[in-house]
Amino acid sequence: MCKEKRFIEISPGLVTPGGRMTDQVESQGHICPYCQGNGYRWQEDDWQERYKKECPICRGSGKLDAVIRVEWKASE
Ligand SMILES: [Zn+2]
Repeated sequence: MCKEKRFIEISPGLVTPGGRMTDQVESQGHICPYCQGNGYRWQEDDWQERYKKECPICRGSGKLDAVIRVEWKASE
């Protein structure tokens, strides 16, 4: 299994006094580790019949998006 590395550059954008001091960075399209990107997991019913059950983590998309919130504050 290979792991993809992603880098995020953090720098304060336009800030004004009294304005918002938060930023949001999104990183999209990460492969869901729970279903390996399939969007489903094999399950067995009461008669040992295998069926595809929608992944509860990615809700069937097979991918996850990361939302990273950054809060800016005055340096101490
Ligand atoms: Zn999944």
